[in-house]
Amino acid sequence: MMEISPEVKALSAEMTSLRRDLHAHPELGFQEVRTAGIIAKRLTGLGYTVRTGLGKTGVTGLLRGGKPGKTVLLRADIDALPIREEAVVPWRSETAGVMHACGHDAHTAMGLAAAAILAKEAPSLAGDLFFVFQPAEELLIGAEAMLEDGALEGVRADAAFAIHVMNRWPTGTVAICDGAAMTSADKLTLTITGRGGHGASPHLAIDPIVASAQIITALQTLVSRETPPLSTAVLSLTTLKAGTAFNIIPDAVEMTGTLRCFDAALREKLLASLRRTAEGLAASLRCTARVESQFLTPALRNDPAVTAVARQVAAMIVGESRVVAAEPLTGSDDVAYFFQKVPGCYAFVGSAKPEWSSAPASHNAKFDIDESALEIGADFLVRAARAALLPR
Ligand SMILES: [Zn+2]
Ligand SMILES: [Zn+2]
Repeated sequence: MMEISPEVKALSAEMTSLRRDLHAHPELGFQEVRTAGIIAKRLTGLGYTVRTGLGKTGVTGLLRGGKPGKTVLLRADIDALPIREEAVVPWRSETAGVMHACGHDAHTAMGLAAAAILAKEAPSLAGDLFFVFQPAEELLIGAEAMLEDGALEGVRADAAFAIHVMNRWPTGTVAICDGAAMTSADKLTLTITGRGGHGASPHLAIDPIVASAQIITALQTLVSRETPPLSTAVLSLTTLKAGTAFNIIPDAVEMTGTLRCFDAALREKLLASLRRTAEGLAASLRCTARVESQFLTPALRNDPAVTAVARQVAAMIVGESRVVAAEPLTGSDDVAYFFQKVPGCYAFVGSAKPEWSSAPASHNAKFDIDESALEIGADFLVRAARAALLPR
């Protein structure tokens, strides 16, 4: 049995229309000018103390309760993806090549609905509400940018919540991980340099393509042979660029990829192994390898006490049997930077329509959600905030 709060029901139509408006006008990371403008205007109208331009396009809203108490942080991410939308919906993206294919339009709408409901209650609340509307989550660099701009200055939050719609689960399910929830993420760039020449005279050149092929193959042993069997790591090489013509051996090959880990020490070890393998193999084949890694976000851990609160409030909405324990994900969310400073819980709100035989996945050009999940997510944020402000 679903138990949506009446105050959420009352805002449902407005929340849905805002989600559709945001969906039609998606903006990429750090370009969310229109979106941030809507957020700032609404929060200001609700009485929040609003800060804008945090991490370029991030927005925060602080509202003090009637009595002193704890502070709860609620995060919504606001950016879209460089995807040409293929979903056939009236609110289809009007910006060519940009799409809300991860549901951050829904997160923004749910966050603003929760902000409106909680603002009405603020005079009777003991404690403060702090909303974070974060840009550039898809780039995994928006949270750190907000923190560097002092997003948490003057705010001592006691608990944080973030939600994500996910078509892996049907609407009416809330999935929450215990402890480790999402991996750290590094962006990897490998440049293998040889010496270009004629394709017919390889002995006069130093072929970086053959060296790269061996490096790619050898890197498969980092997970299979160097990672403890019960630990988790993912190493994917995802782009490979080299050459201009069939008869030219190029000077260099560039590859990019990503490393995902739950354990920081394992991450360090694998980065060292990556360097050793690439540089060693390249040298043995007369090439050089340059390995660059950009640390994007730490792993995300759900705090046990905050997670217990999240499970309780989710059960109040969807029923205890529909609050499922999720397996940790090898995806990443840079809200992990906020969770390093504030104990938090990240919850997945099921958003697949029950009648869909195969729900479109996040980051797919046909991505869509069951909009009835909006009420569940907004209600979760409202109830989580109330529960987190209670003295424990
Ligand atoms: Zn995404
Ligand atoms: Zn997302």
